Amino acid sequence: MSKKSSPSEPTRVGSIAMEDYLEQISELIELKGYARVIDIAERLTISQASVTNMVKKLGAEGLVNYERYRGMTLTQRGEEVATYIRQRHELLTRFLELFGIDDTTIYDDVEGMEHHISGPTLRVFDALVAELEKSPEMVKRVKKKLKGDHN
Ligand code: MN
Repeated sequence: MSKKSSPSEPTRVGSIAMEDYLEQISELIELKGYARVIDIAERLTISQASVTNMVKKLGAEGLVNYERYRGMTLTQRGEEVATYIRQRHELLTRFLELFGIDDTTIYDDVEGMEHHISGPTLRVFDALVAELEKSPEMVKRVKKKLKGDHN
């Protein structure tokens, strides 16, 4: 996935939890080549039984192929949705990173914000981030304001 690619919105998936699972599954597959229930459970600090239930649900939605002892892969649609979710996460992260917010706060905020932002609003952020990244002077002025230094 290219770092600067713009997210294009797929059909929305069911729930916030589903989005979080798809995000983790996709990252695990990229990182390790596979996604195991135990790893997903660890990353989301949730029980393995809950993960198994959700993975079955994602399977029923046609997003994940799941075979009990062989692990899981994303279907093509699962892949598309996961890519959107990850690009959206990355874009919101890039936006907040411009202003020197610490990584933990950025991560926590993005994990919350990402589920509530519509396609049109995300496109605004996309354009805005691109412009801000080309305008360090503007970013500097904003950061100065954040410090309470209005001179
Ligand atoms: Mn995320």
